[in-house]
Amino acid sequence: MDDLDIQKQTIEKIRKIVPKKLQQKEDIFFAKFSKHKGNTQTKLKYLYEFSDTLFGYVYQAVPCKKGCSYCCHIPVSVSEVEVTYIEKSTGIKRKNLPEFDTQLSVPCPFLKKNVCSIYEYRPYFCRVFVSVNETAAGCYPDVINKQESLMFGYGELQKSYFFLVREMNIQDIREVFK
Ligand code: SF4
Repeated sequence: MDDLDIQKQTIEKIRKIVPKKLQQKEDIFFAKFSKHKGNTQTKLKYLYEFSDTLFGYVYQAVPCKKGCSYCCHIPVSVSEVEVTYIEKSTGIKRKNLPEFDTQLSVPCPFLKKNVCSIYEYRPYFCRVFVSVNETAAGCYPDVINKQESLMFGYGELQKSYFFLVREMNIQDIREVFK
């Protein structure tokens, strides 16, 4: 079986694991999200809650596990609303840091002993980025752009995130926190 077959198989496995009702909720999530009356912080929490529920199932089918931190060494986008959320939740304040060189495999400043130290408050992309390969080794910075890999994600969830952060400043996490 080649890499592409394994990726397709993993995606198929995810489709079987995620309950039908939850999948149906995702199918119409944007319509509901776009009508949410809360402020940006409340909307962000609502989005995180839904993505965590969804990905709680996805994680059962992928090689991503606690202690694997390959994807914490690649670029990590964070929007203004998320920076504020991290600041408010952790008490860690933003800094005005130099532009991050995406060619460097510098670990995220929140990665401590291979574990995310702000896991509960981590940005959207940290929540929804998963490997559908046999192992997560393909996420390593030197490898990720060289290998052919299917991307896995949820359209309505993604659309909702971009709707929330539209017109907001988006930076790499290493340009904001140290
Ligand atoms: S915030 Fe946490 S999960 Fe996201 S890149 Fe940093 S250490 Fe990794």
